This record gives sequence, structure tokens and C-alpha cells, in this order.
Amino acid sequence: MKKRRHPVRTVLFAALAVYIAWLAVQILSYRKYVSPPEPARAEITSFRTDGSPDAAPARAGAPEPVELRGAFHLHTRHSDGTKTVEEVAAAAERAGLDFVILTDHGSPNFASFDSQRQIGRVMVIAGAEISSSRGHLVALGFKRPTQRFSQNAESAAREVAALGGFTVIAHPYSKTRWSWGDRADFSGLEIISFDSDLRRGWAPSLLYAPVLLIKPSLALLKILDPPTTAVHKWDRLLEEDEGRAVGPYLGYFSIDAHRLFYETALGVLNLHVQLDSLAPVDFTEASRAVVEALRRGRFYNAVDAAADPAGFRFWAEDGRIAPTVFHIRAPFSFAHEIRLLRRGATVASGNGPELVFEAREPGVYRAEVYLRARTPLRRDVPWILSNPIVIRKDVP
Ligand SMILES: [Zn+2]
Ligand SMILES: [Zn+2]
Repeated sequence: MKKRRHPVRTVLFAALAVYIAWLAVQILSYRKYVSPPEPARAEITSFRTDGSPDAAPARAGAPEPVELRGAFHLHTRHSDGTKTVEEVAAAAERAGLDFVILTDHGSPNFASFDSQRQIGRVMVIAGAEISSSRGHLVALGFKRPTQRFSQNAESAAREVAALGGFTVIAHPYSKTRWSWGDRADFSGLEIISFDSDLRRGWAPSLLYAPVLLIKPSLALLKILDPPTTAVHKWDRLLEEDEGRAVGPYLGYFSIDAHRLFYETALGVLNLHVQLDSLAPVDFTEASRAVVEALRRGRFYNAVDAAADPAGFRFWAEDGRIAPTVFHIRAPFSFAHEIRLLRRGATVASGNGPELVFEAREPGVYRAEVYLRARTPLRRDVPWILSNPIVIRKDVP
């Protein structure tokens, strides 16, 4: 006599089959978008290098900026990371990066600071993550101090600035939250913190656990949260920056890698630094150029694992005096949406290879690009996030 199948088992098998089919669709439909080489570059004869607050004047026929790709906010064994500096550099080289910014805990972390050098093709640049009175503060670009930085956030920022450096507020809305005071001397804030999203999003991403073995970057893209709160705060800070002499707050995509998915994360969220000329060969000069570009906001952020952003440019014609014409170049062969924003509101948007907008109002403007092709990114997670350009009132 034939044995009857247990109905519960049948349902479980069916559910498993549906799950495997769903996973297969997810994996097979994911691909990192890459544009065909050299899209429409020859048409551009005049440009301002990028989203720089103090970019050089536009010059007809000026060369394209040189773009270096890196990762920001990494921990090594010098604090609570699990990789050595050499292992981080090797992983970065495999991920195709030009530089990494180490931010080991300490005020500063001298061992990490002293590890700065060229390792293979990767520039290892070290700052520090200071546990301050307001929260975690990343310090960068400072000369080696003779004593430790203050635990008071404002004092630490001033001490770092006195040594030629600058500070970035780390993960302001997760882990150790930032307690906001006056604008003080901080120069930027982290908009996306990968480690924070990972801690928050691990439960739903369990669904994608098998994907980690086959396409780890797909699983990591799925956990990225829309950075609504941080962007809202950033826009309010930029609004306060309008009409001030200080540079605008800069936004950073941060990895904050310690141990989990370290190597994959290096290729998920990236900083793209734009230099006027080819990076110098000498490590001291080259790392100084990268740090200067970061200080001046001559970089943009991108979720590189979703699509290759090379070719993105954001510039304003004829100086930074209103009225001016903005250009956002996104010459990509896949569906995308470009937005130009001021005070958190979209003032222009488009889907073409370049968005051109005449801005009559002075103010702080920035650009975002979203993927609209089939993408693992959630709809409100920006694929590209520029840094701001300040347009001032014409002073006679
Ligand atoms: Zn931290
Ligand atoms: Zn950290």
C-alpha cells in the first residue's frame, strides 16, 4: 500500500521551493551596471571640476579631473578591527581602491597614525575616531600631535584644526548618537554608516543569508537604509551655512568596518575624490592631495556596488555668484533620476545625461542621483550624493 505524504511536509517543501526560486530570481537579476567606456566626454569643453565649494574657475578645454576611489572610516587591529593594516590594504587593492582612510579609536591612535604609507597600489591614510563628549568624531589631515586631543568635542575640533586637520561627525543617528550643539568647528557628517545599517538591518537580511555565499555585495546592498534623518539634518545645517563665510558641511558615505563583511563592504560604499591633475607618485604628496580634496568637498559619494558612477560631475558656471548655471552630468546608459536640491527641496530634476539649471537665488546647492533601472537599492537610497556648491549674492 502506498504511504501518504504528510501534508505539513508537502507545504514546507512547497515553501522551500518558492523561496529558492525567489532567491534565484534575485541573484540572476542583479548585476552591477557599468556604462560603456567614454560616454560623451568630448562634448564637454568647459567645466568646473566638481561639487567643490572652492573649485577653480572654469577653463575652456580644461582636462577632465583625475578621479581616485577610496573607502572612508575603517578600523584595524590597532583598535577594535580584526584585520592588520597590511590586510586592509590588500583587500582594498582587490576591491580596486586607490586609497583607504583608517580611523582607529584613540585621540589619536598613534600606532594607527604611524602606519600611513603606500602599500601596493593603495594609499593608506590614517586619521582617528575620537570618543568625545558629544559622540564619535573622526579627525583627519592633522599633523602628529605631541599630546592627546581633548575629550571635549569642540576643544578636540579646535586642536585638530590647529594641527592642520578637520573633523567629521561619525554616525550621528546610530550607535553612539551625536548630541548637537552649536555648529562649532566640525566640517562634515556621515550620511550613511554601513556598520549602523548592518546592525539595524541584520534581521530582514537573514532572508538573503544564502545570497551572502554567492553574491555578497547584493546582500549588503539590500540592507542599506534610506538616510532620511541624516540628510534632513544636513540640509538644515546647509541652510544655516547660507550667507556665512565658513565652508558648508560636507556629507560622507562611511563604512565603519570592523570585522563582518570587511572586504565586500570596501567595494559597496565609496568616496570619489577629484583632483585637477594626475596624482603625484610620492606618497606624502599624493595623500596630502587626497586629504585636501576631502577637506574642500572635492569628492562625491556613491554606492559603487549598485552601479559604476565614473563620469559623474557637478559644477556651476561663472564663479559662485548668483545667477549661475548648474550642470549635473550623469552620462549613464541605464535609467536614473538626477536631482538638484536646495534647503532639502528639489529645484530641478531630470532623467537625461545632463541636467542644466539656471539658479537665480544664492544658496547652498547639492546633487543626488537615484537608480531607476532594476536595482537592489531601495527607492530612497541615493546612488550618488554630491557635496554642496555655495552660490553667493553678488557684492558690488
Ligand atoms: Zn564610532
Ligand atoms: Zn568607527
